[in-house]
This record gives sequence, structure tokens and C-alpha cells, in this order.
Amino acid sequence: MNKSQSLYEQANQVMPGGVNSPVRAFNSVGGTPLFIEKADGAYIYDVDNKAYVDYVGSWGPMILGHNHPEIASAVCHAVHKGLSYGAPTEMEVKLANLVTSIMPSIEMIRMVNSGTEATMSAIRVARGFTGRDKIIKFEGCYHGHADYLLVKAGSGALTFGHPTSPGVPADFVKHTLVCDYNDLESVKKSFEQYPDQIAAIIVEPVAGNMNCVPAKPEFLQGLRNLCDKYGALLIIDEVMTGFRVALGGAQDYYNITPDLTCLGKVIGGGMPVGAFGGRADIMQQLAPIGPIYQAGTLSGNPIAMTAGYTALNLLNDVGIYQQLDSLTSQLADGLLYVAKQNNVPLVINHVGAMFGLFFTTVEEVSSYADVMQSNVELFNKFYHHMLTEGVYFAPSAFEAGFMSLAHGDREINHTIDAANRFFKTLK
Ligand code: PMP
Repeated sequence: MNKSQSLYEQANQVMPGGVNSPVRAFNSVGGTPLFIEKADGAYIYDVDNKAYVDYVGSWGPMILGHNHPEIASAVCHAVHKGLSYGAPTEMEVKLANLVTSIMPSIEMIRMVNSGTEATMSAIRVARGFTGRDKIIKFEGCYHGHADYLLVKAGSGALTFGHPTSPGVPADFVKHTLVCDYNDLESVKKSFEQYPDQIAAIIVEPVAGNMNCVPAKPEFLQGLRNLCDKYGALLIIDEVMTGFRVALGGAQDYYNITPDLTCLGKVIGGGMPVGAFGGRADIMQQLAPIGPIYQAGTLSGNPIAMTAGYTALNLLNDVGIYQQLDSLTSQLADGLLYVAKQNNVPLVINHVGAMFGLFFTTVEEVSSYADVMQSNVELFNKFYHHMLTEGVYFAPSAFEAGFMSLAHGDREINHTIDAANRFFKTLK
């Protein structure tokens, strides 16, 4: 038994499934989750001293690679000034200014501690502002684990076969309308049915919790138009896509202006941070200046703000996103080439530094139904082969992959060669 297996056995005694977040578990791909000792650049190292090229990147934030020296040093410096005060700091103002300058649709922002808090609070604000109760979400999109959002959700909820969670009273979800991703007609129907009851649409602009499914540009524009027509707010959930598919997030990439934006992961540089923000007239409804309540003891934590501010400053540099895009294309092109050589049906979606592999004969994967056609059994075999060869993808056929600036030819070529060796075994 190796050290990961032994820790997993111990963890299972005291933690449900041995993990603190289901998406880390290997229940869907089979086997034991890796217990990680450390990470550096493009690599993570497990407790058994094996190195892996990492395409999880802490589920998104590690765009600059792990253990970036400037972020590590800024955090160490901040730690010596105390871990938390529960009072305002200059760093909160600096990060707020930086985010609002990068994403102009965010006129005002509030920091929280996770993506879940960001989406939950954005929806409360949307409901309070519009005086309406209903929201629209899309099947296969995940927006954290608030009750009324765990309806036909993606991510771990989808991977483990409970997209609609028990423990959520029917009364709590009766205002959640679920539509089909990339299908504007389904949204139109909901608005026609409830023309003056829908507070907001919440959408992942590149769905990264049912693998990786980019929105069609006309879909996002259509959502914007419908919101304008019916007086609803458009909430773009950029927890995954913000500062990842482009510096200004997917709203910049698609040139769509939301009313509210949810952020997470990246703005903490790897520390627990989330945020929501948007139009000033909406954000000003928040306590203490408005009646809509939202709060957090550790929100705007000085260490997390320092990590996020340092990371975003480093990302705010010319050429970075082109480089990320070309690294992701290099990986996708290489994998598609070797798959074709070996007659393996593979589709790859990618936007900026996000990508998704689908073992499928479907030509274009653009909907939840398309995603569901992919061969999970083949993915699981591929997954374990890649692990053996020292490549770490998310342990689920329904999660996106993430590229970082620390990845280079060596890591990408190794990934393609390892995949090629797997594809050859299928002949
Ligand atoms: N929204 C999206 C789009 C996400 O991808 C996630 C997490 N993967 C969340 C919200 C929830 O974020 P957190 O896990 O930080 O609560």
C-alpha cells in the first residue's frame, strides 16, 4: 500500500469519502485520490514522491503555475503583519480597483470567501433589486452548492449522479427554472411563461462544469437581449472563466456586458476568495448602505487579498493570454492528431486556457445532451493511463482542464506522447 492509499484509508474513517470536496475523489474514475505533498510550476507531487504534469491547477486559479515566487513572497510578507483583522485594509481597496479596472462592467464589488458565496449573494441582490423571485439556470451548469442552485447542476453533482441534491426542500427550488445551454428558445419560453417574475439569468459563459462547452456568441447576446426585454438581470458566473479565458474574462472575450458578475478562485491567487460585483445602482442596495444583507467575518482577508492582488497584477501584462491560448491549442492539436492517427473518436473544446476532452463520435459538443453522449468508460481508462505516465487531469469526464503559463513544450509533448501510447493500446 502506498502513502496515498494509506492516507485515504485513514481519511475515510473521519471524512465522508475521505475528502473535503467531492470533485477530488476518484469514485467516478476508480482508485485512490492522490494526496498531494507540494506543487511547483506545472507540476504537482504526491506524497509518494511522484511528479505529475498538472492540468487541474487547483481547479482554475493557478494560471501562473504553482508556487509562483512573487505570490509566495508577497503572502509570506503579509503573514507577518497578522492573519486577519475583521476591519478594512488598503489591500482590499487595491484589489477592488484592479478588478474594476480590468472588468469595466463591475462598477462596485464585494469580496466573499468562495464562488458559492459569490453566486448566492449575487442572486439575493438580483432578487432584492428587481423584487422578483424566479431565476433561470442551465442544466449542467454549476454555480456552487446553495440550495436553489443545486438543480440539474454540473460538477461533482453530475459526476456522482445526483445533479439535483436531496436535502433541498422542493419549496426552496420552486423558483429555479432550468433551461438548456446554448438553446435560446428554452429561455424565451420561460420568459413568456413568467414575463414579470424572473429576477435573473445566471450562466457560465463557458460551461466548465459539464466538461468544457463554450457558449455560442449569439446565445449570450440573446440572453442579454431577453433580460433587457423583460427587466431581468444577467448574472455571468465567471468563477472559472474570469481572468482565465481572457484577462477581462468571458465577458470581454464575448463582448457581453452583464449586470452582475461572480468571481472566485483566480482573484485569490489560490487562497479562498470569491467576489461579486456589477452595476453601482444594484450594488448600492447592499448593506450597510442598502437593505439587502450580506456579510462575512473573513471576507477581504488580508492574506487572500495580497495573493489575489499579486496574481492579478502579474496577469495584467501584454501577451499572456495569447500565450495561454497558444499553449492550449498546441495541446489540443497534438492530442487530436494522435487520436486521429489511432482512429480514436475525440473532440476537444477549448477557449483561452480552458479545455475539455470528449471521447465521442458527436461532431460538435455544444449542449448538455452532446456531453452526455461521451464515453465515460473510455475516459476512465485514459485517465488511469495518464496518471501512470505522470499526467494529472481532473478525475471526472465532466470537468474542464486548465492550462498554465508554467506549461511548456516539455509538458505538452509528454502529455501528447502519453496519450498516443494509450490510444495505440486501443487498436
Ligand atoms: N461557479 C462556478 C462556475 C464554478 O466553477 C464553481 C466551482 N467550481 C463555483 C461557482 C463554486 O465555487 P466554490 O467551489 O469556490 O464555492
